Amino acid sequence: MLLFLLRTLNLKRERRLAPERLAQVQHRRLKGLVRRTIQRSAFYREKYQGIDFDRFTLGDLPPTTKGELMANFDRVVTDPAVTRAGLERFMDVPENAGHLFLDRYIVSHTSGSQGQPMLIVQDQKSLELAFRLQMTRGNNEKVGVREGISRLIDPVRLAVVTLKRGFYPSATLFQHMPAAARRYVNVLWLSQTDPDLNRRLNDFRPQVLTGYAGVLEMLALESEAGRLRLKPELRQVVNNSEALTDRAKARIQSAFGLHVMNNYATGECIFLSNGCSTNAGAHINADWAICEVVDEEYRPVPAGTPGQKVLITNLANGVQPFIRYEVGDVVTMADTPCQCGSRLPRVARIEGRAADVFWVGEGTRRRRMINLVFAHAIEYLRDVREWQAIQWDRQRVVVRLEPLPGAVLDLSRARQAIDRELTTYNFQDVEVDFEVAPQLSADPETGKFRRMISLVENQANKAVPPHRPTIGQGMIGTAIGSRRPNRPTSANSGTR
Ligand SMILES: [Zn+2]
Repeated sequence: MLLFLLRTLNLKRERRLAPERLAQVQHRRLKGLVRRTIQRSAFYREKYQGIDFDRFTLGDLPPTTKGELMANFDRVVTDPAVTRAGLERFMDVPENAGHLFLDRYIVSHTSGSQGQPMLIVQDQKSLELAFRLQMTRGNNEKVGVREGISRLIDPVRLAVVTLKRGFYPSATLFQHMPAAARRYVNVLWLSQTDPDLNRRLNDFRPQVLTGYAGVLEMLALESEAGRLRLKPELRQVVNNSEALTDRAKARIQSAFGLHVMNNYATGECIFLSNGCSTNAGAHINADWAICEVVDEEYRPVPAGTPGQKVLITNLANGVQPFIRYEVGDVVTMADTPCQCGSRLPRVARIEGRAADVFWVGEGTRRRRMINLVFAHAIEYLRDVREWQAIQWDRQRVVVRLEPLPGAVLDLSRARQAIDRELTTYNFQDVEVDFEVAPQLSADPETGKFRRMISLVENQANKAVPPHRPTIGQGMIGTAIGSRRPNRPTSANSGTR
């Protein structure tokens, strides 16, 4: 108990470490991870052949991809008792959510909106680390011994609003909350579809509110309508695992009068960063994780410039090592020190999560179309509550717009705005149409709202197939209903 508190407070201090000292801590942990990994993982032993383990640098280690780690799953993990087949059987039983796999591991899978889901195994220690980081660095107030002890008497009231329990990384975090953390935090877990949501939140009076950006935005509208009354007790709002648009951020901030802390993480490294308390973006927990912003050829991209993808290393997960693991997110690191006092590197912008990208054809190549092309256009339309872009054909996107209650949308303004963005980003060959949708809702399975849905094979670097004839506007409504976006119905259906 006391150990938990002391370890937790230590993390608060480490965020002020000088960069050189931080790099030492990071490299020491990396060396330890690599040493233990090559002893027990046949996959990494082969992959790292020829590397001098006494004097290697991070860049000497070849990157890894999801396809490769999934194809070699049983040879990647360092515990022979963990097998892909065993894991798939376990996750096929919904009642197993919230239970430990082999009595010791927390398991989850990514959502499949980026193709094949990744199966993830971690031990309780890494989950405890995620909590400790959230309690210290992901927190906009001082946490000292006095605050720690006062929270034992009066725990923080944290409301988590997500859809449901399941094997999603962010859900497992709260399902497996360490006992020690429970002493400091009183959690109310609510479903965003709960008809009594407003009343239950009003009664609970949360001090911290955590949810997906789409849910937080919905609650902001409820607050503005006077149905949700969380002020003045609410002092922190945290967005988890869904891209936060500028519009949603502005709406949430004005409704609650609070800065939205925007965590950036992946299922493969749930404690990758914590949202900054003062600025946009998030600080990488660089003592426990490494986030390299790179270009298409894995060359480092300097701070201030957007990369093409990131390589993520999780320094705490020894059972399923993720070392220089490729994620297709477009990330820009900040190139100036942060005013919040943290010296940890800060992600300034996340311009496109891999799931928020369409690959369109341009000549013989494929080009990434990030969600900002649409987001910027829609920012001009004040009457839009939510939007969703569907890549219906390689070169054809339909943007569905949900108006604010009582508003009437002017689609000709939408047309002008998108034409301007298509010109700015130089997309000459992509056709974008608009459609008014009475209500856009979250994916019923994950509870996460998907702003970008591709109905075509959505990857880079593939030969571009010949253009199919364009489908008429009138068919889109029915077609969207009958043709489901590519996502798994269970943990493993996408991989069979
Ligand atoms: Zn900061």
